[in-house]
Amino acid sequence: MQALVFANGKLEYTLSHPQPKPADDEVLIAVELAGICTTDLEIIKGYMDFTGVPGHEFVGAVEKGPRDLTGKRVVAEINCVCGKCDMCHSGLSNHCRNRQVIGISGRDGAFAEYIVVPRRNVQVVPEAVSNETAIFVEPLAAAQQIVQQVSIEQRHKVVVVGDGRLGLLVVQVLAGIGAKGNVVLLGKNENKLTFAEKRGIQGVLLEDMLIKPEWDIVVDCTGTADGFQTACRLVRPRGKLILKSTFVPDKPVDLSPLVINEVTLIGSRCGPFPNAINALAAQQVVTNGLITASYKLQDGIQAFEKAKNPDQIKVVLEIKS
Ligand SMILES: [Zn+2]
Ligand SMILES: [Zn+2]
Repeated sequence: MQALVFANGKLEYTLSHPQPKPADDEVLIAVELAGICTTDLEIIKGYMDFTGVPGHEFVGAVEKGPRDLTGKRVVAEINCVCGKCDMCHSGLSNHCRNRQVIGISGRDGAFAEYIVVPRRNVQVVPEAVSNETAIFVEPLAAAQQIVQQVSIEQRHKVVVVGDGRLGLLVVQVLAGIGAKGNVVLLGKNENKLTFAEKRGIQGVLLEDMLIKPEWDIVVDCTGTADGFQTACRLVRPRGKLILKSTFVPDKPVDLSPLVINEVTLIGSRCGPFPNAINALAAQQVVTNGLITASYKLQDGIQAFEKAKNPDQIKVVLEIKS
């Protein structure tokens, strides 16, 4: 089958990747649309030492699996867990000691014609949610996870650092919870800030921002050492810094502002899919305009190049039309 494969430090398109076969507790999905995320761009720089087919933001149709799922349009949670370890037993299965993560760790992902995932990871996509919206379920669930971890109130001054793919989802989630006027998106790109402003959220260009430790809650979605450094300098004493970025650092970061200001640093990763699907179906979070380029799988290498471009938001791969 067609696939993008990352091996020996190189991403390549192939026509001859073996089609995966589902085990008894797995389903075979024909991938229809997949999104390239910052994590994918990090993977091809060596993040997680991954080899295989990347891609974890996708929607497709179940081709083989239990009867109630066959033919259904689905998305899949990315953590594939053992159900037996201490983390699984304590209700923290996203932190399973033996987990594989679709397209990120130990398991082939979605930049291919077919993907196999555990049946329990599959969630059916309602009619009201198009493929172009469904590929945002995974990053939106990750954005919503912040609210599970930190209580955000109307009185809080919140700044989301980074106006990329994830930042634009995070800021919509947080603005939906707190008072819109108290949530600011900080970025480098006017087009992206305009996207937020259209939703009533204030966007501020980095060059216009006063970098002072004045914010109650700061969320770093930049995926860069510089962005994290800026975020560290914005949190008020005893404030909270939520780190959403996973990246291979290209330079050292000065952590002393976190010590001096006694900042609480919170790492935040994946969230549950059902909430994200509901928010998209109810149009509480808007994804129109977030897809900025679309490529066929065979042009996947070009798509990755495009996705590196800072003026892009979400670049997608059309795998089956
Ligand atoms: Zn992602
Ligand atoms: Zn486990």
